[in-house]
Amino acid sequence: MNLYETHCHTSESSACASASGDTQARFYKSRGYHGIVVTDHFLNANTTAPWELPWEKRVDILFSGFESAKRTGDEIGLTVLVGWEYTVGGTDFLTYGPDKQWLLKHPEVMELHPNDYFDLVHKEGGFISHAHPFREDWYIDMIRLFPRKCDGVEVINSNRKDFENDMAKKYADSYGLIYTAGSDNHHANQARLSGIRTEEDIRDIRGFIDVLKSGKYSIFDRVYEEAPDNGKA
Ligand SMILES: [Zn+2]
Ligand SMILES: [Zn+2]
Repeated sequence: MNLYETHCHTSESSACASASGDTQARFYKSRGYHGIVVTDHFLNANTTAPWELPWEKRVDILFSGFESAKRTGDEIGLTVLVGWEYTVGGTDFLTYGPDKQWLLKHPEVMELHPNDYFDLVHKEGGFISHAHPFREDWYIDMIRLFPRKCDGVEVINSNRKDFENDMAKKYADSYGLIYTAGSDNHHANQARLSGIRTEEDIRDIRGFIDVLKSGKYSIFDRVYEEAPDNGKA
């Protein structure tokens, strides 16, 4: 079975992450994963990209962590795909499908109402999974749900409490939304990791979306016993 991470961050592009794309790729390889989707914080969220830069430069920065992970992945044999984590006032949406070229042509995404953003992503064949929908934190003013605009729900997030994950699963079940699971790993030293497990060999983001939609996968949640090595070993 092939293991895939659906949710991780890099220090090149996410202001709250400490692990570079290179470190993340080595870390997941050391944990036996077949591939990862790098989902750095979008340009409306906790990004390293300064707001005053031109759009092209900001998009370059958003993709720089993925590009570093991909260079390493190509060397060591880890599939590295890209998405991003878009925010609506602290409510986060993993976005899979649109690529860098698409984003360069759509600077208006920054101004769109969330419903219009979701529609535009879907028009491109993209997939939206609501990340940790019941997360409670000081900076989140309310729990916002968009059940008719999301394809999936992150029902396991390795950094969230069981209660929050259980609520996410109830939400997904109530609306018939697709399950995703992810580690939300920012530091490459996390013992508890999750993701999806599939017999399919996912080669690109379309293949990843196809697997989610086909149901030919299961989600997993595990604690790795050996001490974290930051992927350097
Ligand atoms: Zn973060
Ligand atoms: Zn995240």
